[in-house]
Amino acid sequence: MDYSVRGAWWSGETVAVVTGANRGIGHALAARLAEHGLTVVLTARDGARGEAAATPLRARGLAVVVRHLDVSDAASVADFAAWLRDDVGGLDILVNNAAVSFNEIDTNSVEHAETVLRTNFYGAKMLTEALLPLFRQSPATSRILNISSQLGLLNKVSNPSLKALLQDEDRLTEAAIESMVARFLAQVKDGTWAEPGQGWPKVWTDYSVSKLALNAYSRLLARRLQAHGERVSVNCFCPGFTRTDMTKGWGKRTAEEVADVGARLALLPPGELPTGTFFKWCTPQLYSKL
Ligand code: NDP
Repeated sequence: MDYSVRGAWWSGETVAVVTGANRGIGHALAARLAEHGLTVVLTARDGARGEAAATPLRARGLAVVVRHLDVSDAASVADFAAWLRDDVGGLDILVNNAAVSFNEIDTNSVEHAETVLRTNFYGAKMLTEALLPLFRQSPATSRILNISSQLGLLNKVSNPSLKALLQDEDRLTEAAIESMVARFLAQVKDGTWAEPGQGWPKVWTDYSVSKLALNAYSRLLARRLQAHGERVSVNCFCPGFTRTDMTKGWGKRTAEEVADVGARLALLPPGELPTGTFFKWCTPQLYSKL
């Protein structure tokens, strides 16, 4: 598959919302989408940090609008959705990028598991559901790109019944995904999450469970939208190990390199745009290999 950006279907009227765009991958992706000529809504949970991140982009003449958005806060999500509906009139692309991890590269504490799940999974889901009615049903198809991680792939789960549930597209429901998350958080509370047999991912477990849930939700949502004939695609993108604050500067690639590929995926020509796909870097993964 050729991932170069070509055959532009978009214009300056095309609106892309990027969450957690004041730094790291989100910021680089917001800049790249604006460089391609879209109008970008750069969102940040801290207004001042958002403004500081947008100022140099605007100074280059890029169409960047800043808006406050804390994806883990229901009131903030509702305010944002109302503003997007009333003042902007809708959106074409949503990049769910905002996320947290509190672990060092080689540690695995679950002390902040609630915040991690509330931000990385519930936050992305809450925002997506709030914005779904606002996507333009354009012939080019609107797009949701969830920045996820291969740490949340099924091959990281060793509990056979959990794996079977997540693999069974017909049995899997949003309620089942949420109950998996609730079970993990309950085990964190009672200290049993790491017992043999629980079978959760072994690396950055709370973060991995958040991405496992995000990946499963993305697949379900893609099916749901397709079944209802909605012109909105839903795909996940794992950028790989990237040098940002999240990795304390470790990694094999820069946020700008990630932004090149992320923007290409977000801007794929309508005829080549899949839905329900997990991209590991720029390679779509076979479901059986997840
Ligand atoms: P960073 O830690 O550099 O940036 C995270 C961004 O998310 C910040 O802008 C942060 O805002 C924002 N954020 C955190 N919580 C919230 C919230 N509640 N509401 C709104 N924004 C919030 O991370 P990266 O750039 O590395 O990560 C970006 C995405 O890429 C994430 O989804 C991550 O899981 C994913 N990823 C990263 C990899 C890597 O190696 N770096 C590998 C695989 C996936 P603030 O500045 O206010 O804290």
